[in-house]
Amino acid sequence: MSDCVFCKIVEGQIPSTKVHENGLTLAFMDIGQVNPGHVLVAVKPHVENIYGLDDALAAAVFQTATRVARAVKKVFAPEGVTLFQANGPAAGQTVYHFHLHIVPRYDKDGMHLTWPAKNPPREQLEANAAKLRVVLE
Ligand code: AMP
Ligand code: ZN
Repeated sequence: MSDCVFCKIVEGQIPSTKVHENGLTLAFMDIGQVNPGHVLVAVKPHVENIYGLDDALAAAVFQTATRVARAVKKVFAPEGVTLFQANGPAAGQTVYHFHLHIVPRYDKDGMHLTWPAKNPPREQLEANAAKLRVVLE
């Protein structure tokens, strides 16, 4: 995709600060740095979001993320690490090339995800799980 910023990074057409690279993924520093050591793991091919990942890309991205998370823990010794991944504007996606954030976390670091749990009755869980099982078969 000629107008995709992460494709340009993968192809070396615009600068990035690389952390790790293999055949299917590229890990580089997020330019915004919520905390020091905030890394993005992107797939190399242009895939817009999670729905377009094949099994090999899905596996590769999580393998790289796991390695980077361990490195972040070793180097920055954060109090925690959050993985964040957005698909679509309602989910907060701003760059439409699949990537996963690895964010070192600290108490009161200002990063918030509100989690409005609805705690529905078991019957509702069962009904919705049944719908998903049909599609997953
Ligand atoms: P999102 O799509 O919400 O997961 O966020 C996209 C992320 O990409 C943001 O955290 C940006 O700071 C980051 N970003 C955008 N452009 C660049 C760039 N040229 N180099 C590194 N990170 C970038
Ligand atoms: Zn792209």
